[in-house]
Amino acid sequence: MAKELGIETYKVYLHGDLLQHTKGKSYRFLGAFPPAYNPLVFLDYNNFMRTLDQWGSEIPADAPWKAPHAKDWDKMSMKEFIEKVCWTSAARRFAELLVNVVATAETQQVSALWFLWCVRICGGTGRVFSTDNGGQERKFVGGSGQISEKMMALLQDRVKLERPVIRLDQSGEVVIVETLNHEVYQSKFIISAIPPILTTKIHFTPELPPIRNQLIHRLPMGSIIKCMVYYKEAFWRKMGYCGCMMIEDEDTPIGFTLDDTKPDGSAPAIVGFILSRKASLFANLRKEERKTKICQYFAKVMGTEEALQPVHYEEKDWCKEQYSGGCYTAYFPPGIMTQFGSVIRKPVGRLYFAGTETATVWSGYMEGAIEAGERAAREVMCKMGRIGEDEIWVPEPESVDVPARPITTTFLERNLPSTQGLLRFLGHTVFFATAAAGIIAIKKGYLRVNCNLSFSQRS
Ligand SMILES: Cc1cc2nc3c(=O)[nH]c(=O)nc-3n(C[C@H](O)[C@H](O)[C@H](O)COP(=O)(O)OP(=O)(O)OC[C@H]3O[C@@H](n4cnc5c(N)ncnc54)[C@H](O)[C@@H]3O)c2cc1C
Repeated sequence: MAKELGIETYKVYLHGDLLQHTKGKSYRFLGAFPPAYNPLVFLDYNNFMRTLDQWGSEIPADAPWKAPHAKDWDKMSMKEFIEKVCWTSAARRFAELLVNVVATAETQQVSALWFLWCVRICGGTGRVFSTDNGGQERKFVGGSGQISEKMMALLQDRVKLERPVIRLDQSGEVVIVETLNHEVYQSKFIISAIPPILTTKIHFTPELPPIRNQLIHRLPMGSIIKCMVYYKEAFWRKMGYCGCMMIEDEDTPIGFTLDDTKPDGSAPAIVGFILSRKASLFANLRKEERKTKICQYFAKVMGTEEALQPVHYEEKDWCKEQYSGGCYTAYFPPGIMTQFGSVIRKPVGRLYFAGTETATVWSGYMEGAIEAGERAAREVMCKMGRIGEDEIWVPEPESVDVPARPITTTFLERNLPSTQGLLRFLGHTVFFATAAAGIIAIKKGYLRVNCNLSFSQRS
């Protein structure tokens, strides 16, 4: 779509080390996970990612509620999943931050089934969490807002802004839509691309079917404040950092950052996200106070006072937006996907559903929003008799200009034991070695054992 509209993309700056900041200390690293000097932590990181992918591979992209373990995984929150899979506190902290970054929600708030499905339909952990060859690789020259603006220019005055829909009536021959400023529109079909929970502001006649009506009350939006700190120069590049920081400490506002300098090197900036619980915690500060706290933390993480000298600061608290309700997207709390999820894109009369939440690829992203919009348009065209049912789901062809390279895993990543597996193996080995040594010692007469133990002694 960017190509059709003449919008170019560029790669996010990635030359240099990433930084992890945990328990008050910063560590430089390259690659998928933060440095793990303790091999048990390394095994734990590896096993967490591998389990996300393995479990995720069982989940159908278009019907996660039909996964063989759907009910069990939907009952489980991501907090419980992390507690089950991760053994070390370092891996648990890292896993928690990943969930906060991807879902803009707390681990206890999101269903494991939903999160596993999200990772799976974004190509797995190797794709969704990565910048190079992954979800964070590119940005649009001039900003993503141009996509909507250029589409609007093509559609001309058919796009009506500042007119929230408040009423939708399907009781007559045509569908009637009324907006907040009391304009009334008529149509044969309607496509709603509004996040599900925001459709609770609309009065429906007839009432929505019960499962749809209940679903829309149960899909909260994530919480995020997006912050941009501009500097005179990109000093982090001189220090050998790429600008990506993963900050785990509780008192930091920002959890994750990227270099956001323009592709020609102008406007050096770091973009950072205040995520989930912290978006609520830091919302009550004044903008200037948030800026100061963020810069102080950048100084601490990168170890330089240059971070304390921003030339400009911008921020956007998405939680305040009445017609977004939060961002990036809606999430499924535990138990909702299997009870209500199957109606997420089921039409209601002549009302069809698009929006990124209804996508089967990159749900929660712009890519998903486009897939969903095109699918919903084809559903309507099918209903109008213009295309066949088999033409509704057309997979998007791979981009010729920016093809996704395959994600590969190494033999070790696939076969290394989990931390628990290794410890269990070592435990058994020590047990058997001790038992074998004992038997040899008994046979050689170095050890005598009284076998006349009573039941209580044995137990
Ligand atoms: C801070 C932030 C960073 C993000 N980063 C990325 C990223 O790097 N990459 C990526 O791909 N995605 C990213 N996203 C997510 C991306 O923006 C969304 O996935 C995408 O915009 C979803 O598109 P949509 O059309 O489904 O919904 P939206 O873009 O949310 O559009 C829904 C529209 O419905 C309108 N609306 C609401 N109520 C009504 C009503 N009653 N009547 C009429 N209209 C109504 C809203 O005003 C809004 O314009 C990010 C989001 C945020 C907030």
